[in-house]
Amino acid sequence: MDGYFASRLHHQLRDQVRYFAELEVRPRIPAMEAARSVHHELSRLIARQGWLGATISRKYGGMGAGHLAKTIIIEELSRVSGAMGAMVQASQLGAAKIVHFGSAAQKDAWLPAIAAGDCLPTIAVTEPESGGHVLGMAATAVRDGDDYVLNGRKVYVGNSHVGDLHGVVVRTGPGSRGLTAFLVESDRPGFRIGEQRPTMGLHGFSFGELFFDDCRVPATHRLGEEGDGLAVAYSSSVLYGRANLTAVSLGIHQAILEETTRFCAERERYGKPLHALPSIKIKLGQIQSRLMTARLAAYHAVHLLDEGMDCDAELMNAKLINVESAIDSARNAMEIHAAAGLFTDRPIERFLRDAHHIFAPAGTSDIQLLRLGEVALGTTKGQWSHRLSPVVRREEGVRDTLEAPPEAHPPSATRVPRQPSRCGTRT
Ligand SMILES: Cc1cc2nc3c(=O)[nH]c(=O)nc-3n(C[C@H](O)[C@H](O)[C@H](O)COP(=O)(O)OP(=O)(O)OC[C@H]3O[C@@H](n4cnc5c(N)ncnc54)[C@H](O)[C@@H]3O)c2cc1C
Repeated sequence: MDGYFASRLHHQLRDQVRYFAELEVRPRIPAMEAARSVHHELSRLIARQGWLGATISRKYGGMGAGHLAKTIIIEELSRVSGAMGAMVQASQLGAAKIVHFGSAAQKDAWLPAIAAGDCLPTIAVTEPESGGHVLGMAATAVRDGDDYVLNGRKVYVGNSHVGDLHGVVVRTGPGSRGLTAFLVESDRPGFRIGEQRPTMGLHGFSFGELFFDDCRVPATHRLGEEGDGLAVAYSSSVLYGRANLTAVSLGIHQAILEETTRFCAERERYGKPLHALPSIKIKLGQIQSRLMTARLAAYHAVHLLDEGMDCDAELMNAKLINVESAIDSARNAMEIHAAAGLFTDRPIERFLRDAHHIFAPAGTSDIQLLRLGEVALGTTKGQWSHRLSPVVRREEGVRDTLEAPPEAHPPSATRVPRQPSRCGTRT
């Protein structure tokens, strides 16, 4: 059913990512589940396939493949491992702020390294006391000559423990125009990461704490102007965060259906496969129906983004539908598995745990519903997709790519990940 939006090139990309995920990611899942901590080597290996650069223009060495291609990459990785889907989306999200708000020098310095997979960027907005209330943040940056000095703490930052370049939004003044974004390398004095705390799921991914203690960054590391921080945070979340997390949920949802139908065919009750029971077949039908609706919502929203059309509401709805329906289907799948689903030799309990992690980032379902309520009432404050559409089309090279194949590097079991390198140019 993805033929409605996807071209032959998208199908090729899907095949490439699926092949890689089966070959390189699936065998590592038991180790990731056992360790319950970030998987550095696999994160680097995935980054070096070039997929962080899905929406980075070819001018900077990116794929310039657009948002539907990005969705397919995340979906296929998440079908095998929600953690690795979350990993790749977090750094694709981290790249967006440089694409949209970076200076020519910042783009030259960072985008080629990100596209090549040598640099994993993040975006760090959330704080312990602010959460979804972005303007409640308290971390600060104070100008000191040609530098800024950053102090404060960020939490739940995707790729916190594997990131090389953190895009940090902090306070430089009061009110909504008092937020400013900076690029901070992970080896800068005054910066440190917190200890990785165990989580319920997404094992292999990290979303932890960043600390800034008199961390000095040059003014040339400021993204945009002072006061642009709220726009950096919102546009990244609305245009990339919602789409990306939608894709993680979609991949997990697909895995739930595949695993559950396989289980129903193998398990016998009353001398027949389990799916011969009408109640089981109805639950499978519910999962199938939700998945079809979720995929349609996901692909439609990013297709509009690729076409340069207004789509903020579609992106919100896609996130809402995908997160909620994946969680509902995970519950149905657990019911179908009954006791067997509770043992960790089957992946279904992992899918349930991982599906819950996609609820909070880029806005909880209540936040999406509040914003959709504003759409219904005609009280929205403008569309990020409208405002940034010219930038998206110019900087991401979407048009180019619809006419030429998005080439991902072929997966190779023998490709040895290079050691993490410092990305960009220290100034
Ligand atoms: C897997 C994962 C990855 C993440 N990645 C990143 C990242 O890369 N960078 C980053 O900065 N952050 C990241 N986050 C943090 C994420 O953005 C926050 O979790 C999110 O903003 C919600 O904040 P909170 O969890 O503190 O919940 P809160 O904002 O404290 O919300 C608590 C409850 O209150 C409700 N609520 C909040 N505000 C309202 C409102 N106005 N009206 C009605 N109800 C409301 C919520 O729906 C929720 O039920 C990530 C989180 C997770 C789980």
